Amino acid sequence: VKEQGKNNFEFYTPEMNETISKKMKLELGLRKALVNNEFKLVYQPQIDIGTGKLLGVEALLRWHHPEWGTISPAEFIPLAEETGLIVPIGEWVLYKACMQNKEWQNEGYSPIRMAVNISSLQFQQSNFVETVRKILKETELDPIYLELELTESIIQDSKHAVSTMHNLKNMGIYLSIDDFGTGYSSLSYLKTFPIDTLKIDQTFTRNIYIDQKDASLVSTIINMAQNLDLKVIAEGVETAEQLQFLQQERCNEAQGYFFSRPIPAQEMNYIFQQQFAN
Ligand code: C2E
Ligand code: CA
Ligand code: CA
Ligand code: CA
Repeated sequence: VKEQGKNNFEFYTPEMNETISKKMKLELGLRKALVNNEFKLVYQPQIDIGTGKLLGVEALLRWHHPEWGTISPAEFIPLAEETGLIVPIGEWVLYKACMQNKEWQNEGYSPIRMAVNISSLQFQQSNFVETVRKILKETELDPIYLELELTESIIQDSKHAVSTMHNLKNMGIYLSIDDFGTGYSSLSYLKTFPIDTLKIDQTFTRNIYIDQKDASLVSTIINMAQNLDLKVIAEGVETAEQLQFLQQERCNEAQGYFFSRPIPAQEMNYIFQQQFAN
């Protein structure tokens, strides 16, 4: 029992010990995951709502542990961020994703954009721009086929963020704001940051036909994006009704289980040859 202030006692229960050691085990596992080759990327199509064309894919990280099985990013990404391991892991993701995109081009498929999630910590590294440049050079991927998905939390350190974003933009890379509308930042950053695309969070998309307020929020985000000359993509699109609403509202792109779940690279061959109905 640990004394905490005057009347408050904090008890360490067996359950808490279990949680702590589970987390430590996970961290140790995560430290070895890169060298042991336990990470894989899966890819989820991003579709032009107007034409049904495949415009890009988002790379999503998967961790398959030999004993524990598949561990969800929701579980290990926060830990990777906490421990700083997201920096080397994120670099691996970027390299792997760029290499894969180049490979598809070499196989003769029409070029698409590869969207890669970037953690704030990764973005804040002083050598981040150099790392991206090095990876593009090594993989010989044209920067116009790379998109970085950033979250609103990077805006906090705004001076570094603005110059980093301009450096990336000058290389020709696309920048998008992920989970748009779920952060707490003011909207004014939209005029100072060189952003191309807003990604409407799936919590809004999901409720378009359930909650009128979510529908209003989605239309408002789409309208605002159009007025600011930004592209807008809705994520988490699962039904034809949701897609129809987005089409009416003139949302540019959509991503979600309605089109495809995130899939391994080998299964993309089929997606490349498919025209998505619209
Ligand atoms: P996110 O970037 O917002 O990615 C979208 C998540 O929604 C993915 O979960 C995707 O599989 C899931 N999703 C896609 N379409 C649908 C749909 O129609 N319905 C529903 N219910 N879900 C859908 P996932 O792959 O589990 O990733 C979770 C989060 O982990 C991501 O959220 C992202 O924040 C993070 N993450 C994943 N890969 C990476 C990575 O390589 N680097 C970093 N920094 N974070 C990553
Ligand atoms: Ca994302
Ligand atoms: Ca998202
Ligand atoms: Ca999310």
